[in-house]
Amino acid sequence: MDKFDILNKYFGYTSFREGQESLIGSILDGKDVLGIMPTGAGKSLCYQVPALLMPGITLVISPLISLMKDQVQALNQAGIHAAYINSSLSESQISKALQLAAAGQYKIIYVAPERLETYDFMNFVRQVEISMLTVDEAHCISQWGQDFRPSYLKIVQFINKLDKRPIITAFTATATENVKEDIVCVLGLKNPDILVTGFDRKNLYFAVETPKKKDTYVIDYIDKHSTDSGIIYCATRRNVDNLYEKLSKQDVAVTKYHAGLTSEERRLNQENFIYDRTPVMIATNAFGMGIDKSNVRYVIHYNMPQSLENYYQEAGRAGRDGERAECILLYSAQDVVINRFLLDNKEQNGEYTQDEINAIRERDEERLKAMTHYCMLTACFREYILNYFGEKGEPYCGNCLNCNREFEEVDVTEAALRIISCIVEAGQRYGINVIAGILAGSSRAKLREYGVLEYKSFGSLSEINEVEIKQIINIMLMNNLLWQTNDKYSLLKLTDKADEIMKSDTRVIYKRPKKNPETEKETASATAKRASSKMRRSDTLNSRGLELFEQLRDLRKTIAKEEGMPPYIIFSDKTLVDMCVRSPFDKSEMLKVTGVGENKYEKYGERFLNVILEYTGGVREKFYFGDMF
Ligand code: ADP
Ligand code: MG
Repeated sequence: MDKFDILNKYFGYTSFREGQESLIGSILDGKDVLGIMPTGAGKSLCYQVPALLMPGITLVISPLISLMKDQVQALNQAGIHAAYINSSLSESQISKALQLAAAGQYKIIYVAPERLETYDFMNFVRQVEISMLTVDEAHCISQWGQDFRPSYLKIVQFINKLDKRPIITAFTATATENVKEDIVCVLGLKNPDILVTGFDRKNLYFAVETPKKKDTYVIDYIDKHSTDSGIIYCATRRNVDNLYEKLSKQDVAVTKYHAGLTSEERRLNQENFIYDRTPVMIATNAFGMGIDKSNVRYVIHYNMPQSLENYYQEAGRAGRDGERAECILLYSAQDVVINRFLLDNKEQNGEYTQDEINAIRERDEERLKAMTHYCMLTACFREYILNYFGEKGEPYCGNCLNCNREFEEVDVTEAALRIISCIVEAGQRYGINVIAGILAGSSRAKLREYGVLEYKSFGSLSEINEVEIKQIINIMLMNNLLWQTNDKYSLLKLTDKADEIMKSDTRVIYKRPKKNPETEKETASATAKRASSKMRRSDTLNSRGLELFEQLRDLRKTIAKEEGMPPYIIFSDKTLVDMCVRSPFDKSEMLKVTGVGENKYEKYGERFLNVILEYTGGVREKFYFGDMF
């Protein structure tokens, strides 16, 4: 058997994805490797395939218990003998597993880092041949990264204790230059082949929306995607709880996750989500590391995150199966305020000096600015993300909101001047909410209390609404006409450029999505264009095909229940779509479906064939639009 046979027989795939083949080749040549590939790119396969071709055992270090279980289940499903050793097992279960392992039962063993140096484990490794040690989520070893795990340093000590050094391979989705160096250095990779693939995730659709009521938007979205699984990220625990309450009242099957829940609640809620018992998860950013659920069809950010680093990682949890998925950020000016507040109250490790703390704060401010800029963007979202991460993006991707709508340029110089006078009149003492409130002429209690109702500027922009005023203020921030103090008040101040604009005839231009004057909605053509290029399952399958898809999905759910397994581990959404497209009638046709390997065919193939045969009555039928092959 060679690597292609393994790919086909066990995983049911016909070809390698970008980067996989060369990494596997290096490993089989006996080299250390470091693979940096985005989420969903298929890093697991890069060590699982060679693991099956090497004489000894492969140890995989992975930070999260849930992740290990998931991977081991998936391997067992594919007919590969694998096990995991971590604190979710009792001591007697562990010693049993190690016994079987010593007897050569397993090719791949997942281990939690803190288990490595235990007596039993060391005892076990001395008895067997270890061909490879793989460090998954390798960025956890770097103190530069956000996810540093001290237990990862144990890996190094463990390697040093081995009689014979195995090949060492490391994988991660996020590695800046610093983190990359750390991984190579700390893990002691020897002359490794380092492979970095592009960070673009073509199947993800990116959008920023600014709905008046975020709750309504979310409820509406979930309603329209009621059969899909998705994650909604909120900035704070309180937001999570509130939204959870609201959605529960609407009878949406939701669950939640944040650091304020007990570990038992977290475990249970996470499991309910993974097993599709509650398809919607509302969570803070505490949720998601190591969640390999491949059929997450959307990730909505209820609040803007603190950085694009965070955003891309969280949004990237959508569409791991390569099928179409949506990443939508719901932006409001208030988000900037929340994030400043979070930065101000960020707990600093006692280890830092004041200078370092200042440097970190500055870095965080820069990141927040770039994130805010993303939310205001009128150009291609994907291009902006890729450029931010140091890759050259194309100005038109065709699969983001901005590439699919028309903009118009509005000259807002007049409004900008009034905003400037208002800030001056208020003595530069207020933040964006108060200033926008004054200009709109809102008579909120707060404003009355401040005594601003007497201002000359009060109501001087009452012809446009408050949201748009804030939007214009943001444009001015972006153009450096204004700046905000770096404290929790975020007071609006004028820059020198603001002076200039009052004296010269420079214009301030606001590019905004084109609206249809009659309906105040986006123009019909823009909406239609958007709908057509927004990639959806319903674009591939016709209505008969979608019906078949639902039936196959039901069967998958039944089997998942029987086996106590997450549905996506039985077959991914992508596999089910391909099953509809090919609508196989026999074993050989079924084996051509992506994700159907021999082992899975033996287990489930016939049951799925039966559904297809019954649905079609054995008559050939086309379940998709256009030409697929
Ligand atoms: P990562 O760890 O890089 O985030 P995974 O290893 O979890 O990604 O893989 C993501 C998904 O891609 C899985 O469902 C996996 O089965 C699928 N996959 C991996 N390699 C291939 C391939 N060559 N062809 C088709 N699907 C693949
Ligand atoms: Mg992974």
